[in-house]
Amino acid sequence: MHIASVGVTKSCFLLSLASCGLLLLLIPALQPPARQAELPQPRRHAAPPHTPELRRPANRTLSGGDAPPQRAGPREQLEGRDLFIAVKTTRKYHKSRLELLIQTWVSRAKEQTYIFTDGDDQELRLRTGVNIINTNCSAAHTRQALCCKMSVEYDKFIESQRKWFCHVDDDNYVVLPSLLRLLSSYHHSQDVYLGRPSLDHPIEAAERVKSDGSVSVRFWFATGGAGFCISRGLALKMSPWASLGNFISTAEKLRLPDDCTVGYIIEALLEVPLTHTHLFHSHLENLQKLPADGVLQQVTLSYGGFDNRRNVVSLQGAFSLTEDPTRFRSVHCLLYPHTEWCPQSRAPSGP
Ligand code: UDP
Ligand code: MN
Repeated sequence: MHIASVGVTKSCFLLSLASCGLLLLLIPALQPPARQAELPQPRRHAAPPHTPELRRPANRTLSGGDAPPQRAGPREQLEGRDLFIAVKTTRKYHKSRLELLIQTWVSRAKEQTYIFTDGDDQELRLRTGVNIINTNCSAAHTRQALCCKMSVEYDKFIESQRKWFCHVDDDNYVVLPSLLRLLSSYHHSQDVYLGRPSLDHPIEAAERVKSDGSVSVRFWFATGGAGFCISRGLALKMSPWASLGNFISTAEKLRLPDDCTVGYIIEALLEVPLTHTHLFHSHLENLQKLPADGVLQQVTLSYGGFDNRRNVVSLQGAFSLTEDPTRFRSVHCLLYPHTEWCPQSRAPSGP
């Protein structure tokens, strides 16, 4: 009897030990799948101990009309009001550059376009009804002033709850149907950074955010002069280095311009690669090389450049080169022929 009871206790003990073991083995399998890390882990990579701060090699060669992107993965039907398009400008360009944009593509996207400038212009706001935001940043063309504007653009986008952030300069024409088509091939909750590099290889900079600058970091960035877009999902992840003035301190530590700093945060810190696209264009490229029949399929266009007034897209349009030196008005009339100032019955004239 005594011996039998010892035997029972022993079997119970062994049984509970076995159940505990089984339970321990099952615990990992019962756990929910690991969430995607909210805060990014620093990138580990071997870099030479010391490299020069910045290398700026030759520009990437322009290849003409890209085919529309063919992607697997989630897509999303987008409307204009899903976008937040930030236009960077400065007080002295309100007349010479901004007016043209307001007259053309901005007039078709008033609700989703926000002009970031550095001085009040009540008259322009009242007359045109566009969203003009005085960043109170300095009007100088310095790294600090430009980063200050980007910092305000970022914060306003986060506040807006829109799905996509796109940044352009005040010498860009945005082809809205092409932009919507491009972004609709992604989903705003994915990590998407779209734009055109101005270099043909990654930029190299001293790493002064995660270390003391004795190591270097290599990353691609989309040139601001051609415009770029960031999905909301990705923009939210940039917050530790971009929100509420952090963008300015990140850029200061790196001593890099605004567009490079965006690339650094996304590629180097968040490890999300830039999606290179040839549909965005700056005046660093030879714009005349763009095939005329593909111009309206591009996402952004530009013109000129300080020393090259003839660097414009070549197309047969409603206005001559003298009447429309940037070609933006001709592009606009091809896209929206019923615009009241577009000559309805005139034969196309071109450069
Ligand atoms: N810009 C600015 N402040 C300035 C000069 C320029 O915010 O003091 C803006 C300008 O409005 C444009 C962008 O910076 O959106 C680039 O300027 P620009 O086209 O003159 O130069 P580049 O394209 O050659 O860099
Ligand atoms: Mn420019």
